[in-house]
Amino acid sequence: METRRSADSAAAVLRAVLDHGPIARSSIARVTRLSAATVTGVAASLMERGLIREAPEAAGPPGIGRPHVPLDLAADAVAVIGVHVAVPRTTVALLDLRGRIIAQRRDPHDGRDPASVLPALAGRIAALRRRHGGRRRILGLGVATGGWVDTANGTVVEHPFLGWRDVPVGAALAEATGLPVRVDSNSRALLSAEQLFGAVAGRARESAVHLFAGNVVDVAFAAGGVVHQGPRSAAGAVAHLPVEGCAELCPCGRVGCLQAAVSERALVRRARAAGLIDRPEINDLVDVAATGHPEAIALLRERARLVGRAAALLLDLFDPDVLVVAEAGANRLPASLATLRAEVAAGSSAGVDVLATVHPSSFPGNVLAVAGGAVALHQVYAASPALS
Ligand SMILES: [Zn+2]
Repeated sequence: METRRSADSAAAVLRAVLDHGPIARSSIARVTRLSAATVTGVAASLMERGLIREAPEAAGPPGIGRPHVPLDLAADAVAVIGVHVAVPRTTVALLDLRGRIIAQRRDPHDGRDPASVLPALAGRIAALRRRHGGRRRILGLGVATGGWVDTANGTVVEHPFLGWRDVPVGAALAEATGLPVRVDSNSRALLSAEQLFGAVAGRARESAVHLFAGNVVDVAFAAGGVVHQGPRSAAGAVAHLPVEGCAELCPCGRVGCLQAAVSERALVRRARAAGLIDRPEINDLVDVAATGHPEAIALLRERARLVGRAAALLLDLFDPDVLVVAEAGANRLPASLATLRAEVAAGSSAGVDVLATVHPSSFPGNVLAVAGGAVALHQVYAASPALS
């Protein structure tokens, strides 16, 4: 059994290689403040597990007495599988240790019943491994989904739009795939992806808030590098945060709830009614707006304004180093991002520097695949025994 301290050291060394690799053992010792002997021992064990290797130009007998030979992630020898379950479809992806997507597939649901979704997912996972896995060893499977997810038990406690309650997703997929499975909420997953691989990862490891606006709207926060789970895994439910200037009726019976106002479903319904798009796809609306269509731009800016109001409130609540917003419009359209930042500046009483603090997602176009992958990669990089 690995001790807690050696697991912490292994995580620190692995993250140093992620951040700086290829990097010499002597430099790892400097950035992690571990002793040279500890780094040598930990590196040998990480090499044995196939997670890191000596950089190819330094090929030769590995090990002791070669402190300056650079180490790098074994990015093409191992992979994780990321799964995202959304309201209209599932995403299944293969990612390397740097969180880069090797391959992904998106499939609409045949039905939303877990009894049909989970076996279909298992089939798609197997197909993706066969087609794109090659000789890579799969370290684990991560599942992200909106709504209320209990990570400790691997269950989706409640996902109102899918109609799921107490669904043991982790156990079902572990049995079907034979892989270690971890399940987490979409928002916590994306925050941990920002901390590992994001554009402002260094500051996101200090303290960060992640606001996701898709069909589901949810929030995650982290302090001291740790994403908050909470005793019930329930933090971050902001669906019914009241926002001004919204006439949409929420399923909870009230008017003016954030999720009802900005959910993709509501937005694409409005866009279809206005004849802007043919399919209920948010990305189609963003495409139309990107061509300069004023009505499409206006719809997305209105959404950015409402999301910006919620973001202002979150900034005042948490005072984070960074606030990352994953919203389809702000992630791709400079005008939407500017509107969102302006709304934060106007709505926050903390007087924050919005350009330095408010950032769009680092994974535009791939947030769902990255979310699932990050749930599995979190386990690899966290201070716990790596999946093997
Ligand atoms: Zn509501």
